[in-house]
Amino acid sequence: MDTLTSRSEKIILEKLNSAGYEAFFAGGCVRDAVMQKLNMYVPAAGDIDVTTNALPQETERVFEDCQVIETGIKHGTVTVVLPEGNVEITTYRSDGSYSDNRHPDKVSFLASLEEDLARRDFTINAMACSLDGGITDPFGGMRDIRSRVIRAVGEPERRFEEDGLRIMRALRFAAVLDFEIEPETARALFTKKHLLKSISVERVFTEFRKLLTGRNAGNVIRRYVDVLGEVMPELAAMKGFEQHNPYHRYDVLEHCIRAMEVVRTTPENIGYLKMASLFHDIGKPQTYSVDDNGIGHFYSHPAMSEVIVNNIMKRFRADNFTARRVGTLVKRHDLIFEKDECLLKRWMNRLGSDVLAEILEIKLADNFATGNMSPELSQKFCDIRELLQDILAQQQCFTLKDLAVDGNDVIACGVAPGPDVGKALGQLLMKVIDGELPNDREALIKSLS
Ligand code: ATP
Ligand code: MG
Repeated sequence: MDTLTSRSEKIILEKLNSAGYEAFFAGGCVRDAVMQKLNMYVPAAGDIDVTTNALPQETERVFEDCQVIETGIKHGTVTVVLPEGNVEITTYRSDGSYSDNRHPDKVSFLASLEEDLARRDFTINAMACSLDGGITDPFGGMRDIRSRVIRAVGEPERRFEEDGLRIMRALRFAAVLDFEIEPETARALFTKKHLLKSISVERVFTEFRKLLTGRNAGNVIRRYVDVLGEVMPELAAMKGFEQHNPYHRYDVLEHCIRAMEVVRTTPENIGYLKMASLFHDIGKPQTYSVDDNGIGHFYSHPAMSEVIVNNIMKRFRADNFTARRVGTLVKRHDLIFEKDECLLKRWMNRLGSDVLAEILEIKLADNFATGNMSPELSQKFCDIRELLQDILAQQQCFTLKDLAVDGNDVIACGVAPGPDVGKALGQLLMKVIDGELPNDREALIKSLS
């Protein structure tokens, strides 16, 4: 486990060991190191967690010359701040009974390493690694990593009853690691799905976002949409909704999943662009109509999708940026584009060039995901994408702040201070965008006088 034991954070184990305590790396960092060792794809290495038999106060004493934060002292966790990052140190604990499906009634600090590992959610997360690289793996985490399986530690139904968030975590790990959920654990996801309702919406949404970024997100949603539907019925409503339309080969859910799978993302926008692609047609079931020829139509479905997305974002208390951006992308996914530089710049001004670029990615994904892709349409969107990049690279003017004159210049030319200033600037911008005037200070001032 050299990827772990060669890390500078090993100083935490050394210090605890030399003070006479047991200490191990545990949880996700061990899982990631094992996967790395097996040459498996590891999404993003998370933080380092350490487990020890030292009580929180004892840990604090060992690290009295470091900055220590009492992160969750009640649950036995303190955070040591190291130059390379924070390390959470948690005292071995066994969690007592759970009467609210969320929090243990009491935690006790008397447990052994094995007991501490037994309270963890999945076998792949229930391994520990010592300073010399030795792995403690009482539940077959190594075996399950090799066969790419998510398996609850102990009896799945009981483990989900203890903490309903584990349902979301199972789906998230399956999506992100590209693992299968073992049949007993999978069955328990369905029988215990109602427990998701007792979990804080923010925590569910955080897991959902992570899930969407996973390589296997599409298959997880296909298979477990009814589990997610417990807290997101709008998603489940797309399942099996046939479109009866020659442009579409798939039902609404399958179409949206395919769009989400193929949409081109960056590390910065993956969280919300995947979500917008998955939700882009979420308003279709409510706007369905059939014409005299038996063809299905979904008039105004982007507006309905936006309404539904806004509801979802409110219900899950999404941050403002995510809520606004996903809403805008969904609302505008049917925007009609032409390969026309002036028109494009007008839209870049109106929506922002990054929003517009993301709409184009959704449109490309949408076209592909019909199952009857139009190559001409695809080519058109690619051409427009290139045009947009050129406009940006050439630093062409398409917003007021790119304009070579400002409000003061306009006032100096005799426009009365007040709303007329903005109006005059707006008119100048349109003329520059349309190529009627160059973005040149003198020329613009001249045009005003
Ligand atoms: P990542 O950090 O990559 O999201 P992780 O497995 O490290 O994944 P954390 O939330 O950082 O997840 O938790 C660290 C460890 O704590 C887990 O590996 C697991 O052993 C344990 N754990 C976390 N949440 C739970 C839970 N709800 N129930 C049981 N054990 C949990
Ligand atoms: Mg972690």
